[in-house]
Amino acid sequence: MEKSRIEYLLKKIEEQTSNAGEEQEKILENILKRNAETDYLNKFLHGQTDKQLFKKYVPVVTYEDIKSYIDRIVDGEPPNILTTETITEFILSSGTSGGEPKYVLSTADCSQKRASIPMLMEAVMHKHIEGLDKGKGMYLLFSNPDFDTPSGLKARMFSSSYLSSPTFKTTLFKTVTTPIEIILSLNKPQSMYCQLLIGLIRRHEVLRIGTIFASTFPNCIKFLQDHWKDICSDIRTGHLSDWITEPDCRTPMLSFLLEPNSELADLLEPIFKNESWEGIITKLWPKAKYIDAIVTGSMSQYIGLIDYYSGRLPIISTFYNSSEACFGINMEPLNKPWDVSYTFLPNMAYFEFIPVDKESPQKAQKLHFNGVSNEESIEKLENGSAQIVDLVDVKMGQFYEVVVTTLAGLYRYRVGDILKVTGFHNKSPKFQFVERQNVALSIDRDKTSEADLSKAIKAAEIELEPHGFLLTAYSSFADTWSIPGRYILFWELKLRDSNTDRLKLDSNTMEQCCRRVEESLDFTYRLYRKMNLIGPLEIRVVKFGAFDELMNFFVSRGAAPLQYKTPCCLKIKEAIEILDSRVVGKFFSNGNLA
Ligand code: AMP
Repeated sequence: MEKSRIEYLLKKIEEQTSNAGEEQEKILENILKRNAETDYLNKFLHGQTDKQLFKKYVPVVTYEDIKSYIDRIVDGEPPNILTTETITEFILSSGTSGGEPKYVLSTADCSQKRASIPMLMEAVMHKHIEGLDKGKGMYLLFSNPDFDTPSGLKARMFSSSYLSSPTFKTTLFKTVTTPIEIILSLNKPQSMYCQLLIGLIRRHEVLRIGTIFASTFPNCIKFLQDHWKDICSDIRTGHLSDWITEPDCRTPMLSFLLEPNSELADLLEPIFKNESWEGIITKLWPKAKYIDAIVTGSMSQYIGLIDYYSGRLPIISTFYNSSEACFGINMEPLNKPWDVSYTFLPNMAYFEFIPVDKESPQKAQKLHFNGVSNEESIEKLENGSAQIVDLVDVKMGQFYEVVVTTLAGLYRYRVGDILKVTGFHNKSPKFQFVERQNVALSIDRDKTSEADLSKAIKAAEIELEPHGFLLTAYSSFADTWSIPGRYILFWELKLRDSNTDRLKLDSNTMEQCCRRVEESLDFTYRLYRKMNLIGPLEIRVVKFGAFDELMNFFVSRGAAPLQYKTPCCLKIKEAIEILDSRVVGKFFSNGNLA
C-alpha cells in the first residue's frame, strides 16, 4: 500500500473517531430521513423523523422479532417494508449457535463499508509493522457458493461477498500470494492445497500468514499433515497432483510449477518429517512477521495451538464484524491477544448499548445468559431503571450488549454480543469482546457463560503442561439426560513434541483437570455441584483432527469456512456424535468440591 494512501486512511480514522458523536447523529438522522416511511418504522413513528421519538418508541428487537419482515422480502415482497434503499443481496450469518442462518439485507453502502474495514486495518498494520510492502501475505481464504432466493436476489456469506468485492479484487488481493481464481474456487480442498503449495513456492516473499477467524487454523495444519508429501512431490517434479482437477485451481497453478525444484523439496521435506512440528510455521516461512487471525471471544481457544505451531509469532486480531454490521478495528494490533480491544468506527452504523450489570457478577451472568432473551435487562429498560446509552456515553469498565441500527433495515437490533469498555480512541470507545449471548451451558438454574467456561478451562490447562500435552480445541454440551444433569467437555489434545495419534493419558492428571474446571466455575455451579443438583463434570478426550471433522460437518450444513467459529457449546445431536465417535478417553471429576 502506498505511503500516501496509508496516511489518508489513518487520517480518516482519526477524523471519524474524533467526531464520534456528530458522526452518530448524522447516521441516525440519515437513516430516519430515508426510512421513516417504511412499514416498520411508520408503525412506531407515523412518518416522524425525530431522533428522540425513535429512541422512545422504536423497540429493541432480536432477529425473531423482525424475521417475518425479512422472510417476506426474501420471498419477493418489495423491501420498502423495512428500507427504501436498493437491496443488492442477502447476507447470511454463519449461524454460530448451530441454528438456521439469519438473512440480513445488504445494500451497496453495506458492501462498501464491509470492504473498507480490511483496507483501514491494512493501513493500521503498515503503521505498526515496517516493511510489509516488501512482501506478501499467505492468506488462506475460501469462498462459499451463493444461492438464489425467491426475490431474485442472491444470498451469500459476508466472507464470499467481500472476496468478490471490487475493493478486494483491485487492491487487497494484490497483497496476497494466491491468484484470485483459486481463492474464489468453490472446491475447498483443492483451493487449500493450491494456496499452501503457492505459499511454499513463494515462501521468501511471505511476510505474514493469515485467515479471518483462528478456527480455520487447525484445519489448515491438519490439511498440511495429510498433504505435505504430495506438496513436496509436486515441487520436486514440477507436476501438479492429478487430483487437482478444478480448472480454476489447476490453470493458475501452471505458472507456479514451471519446472522441477528439487532444491526446495529437499529443504522442506526434513522440516515436515521432523517428529515435532513446534514452530513449523517460522521454519516454512522464515520471514513471517505475524499471524493474522482473530483470536478473541470463542476463538481464544486457539491461541495455544497457534503459538505452538508459529513459534510464538505475534497473533493479530484485526477487526470485529458481523453480518449485520461492521463495528470496529484493532488500533493497537501488537497488544497481546488477551488485551485486544476494538475501536468502534462511528460511521459504520448507529450504535446503542444496553448496560449489563457489572456490580454483581452472578447477577450479571443470569441477566445476559437467561437463554432466549435478555428479559431482565429489557424489562429494566422498559421500566426506566436501566438506560440504553449512545456510543459516546458508554462508561469505562462497564459491560454492554451492543444494539445496531442500519440503513439496510435493522432498527435497534440486538446483535447478541457482550462487550466491555476498555478505553477511548479520541472520542470513540474501545471495546473488549467478552462473549456471545445464548451460547451458555445450562442445567437447571445454573448458567455458565462462554467466557467463564473459557476461563475455567484455561485454569485447568495448566495441569497438562508438565505432561507435554497441548489443548488444541474444546467444546462442550450439557448432558441433561443424566440424573442429575452434568457438563461434558470435549478436549482435543496433542503431544507437544510429537505428531503421534496415540496419547497415553494419565487418569490422575485428567481427573485433576476435571476438578480444576469445576473449581474455577462460578459460585452457582459449585453450589449446585455440592448439593448434587449437578453431576460430576466429564472430560472426553478426542483424537487430534476431531475438531476438523466438526468444522467439515458445519461447513457441509452451509457454514462458511472463513466465518466458522467452533461452537463453544454443542446443541446439535449429529455434531456431538462426530466428537463422541472420536473419543479416546473419558475422565470424571471425583470427590467433593471444596
Ligand atoms: P457472523 O455474522 O455469523 O459471521 O458472526 C458474527 C459474530 O461473530 C459476531 O456477532 C461475534 O459474536 C463474532 N465475532 C465477530 N468478530 C469477532 C471478533 N473480532 N472477536 C470475537 N468474536 C467475533
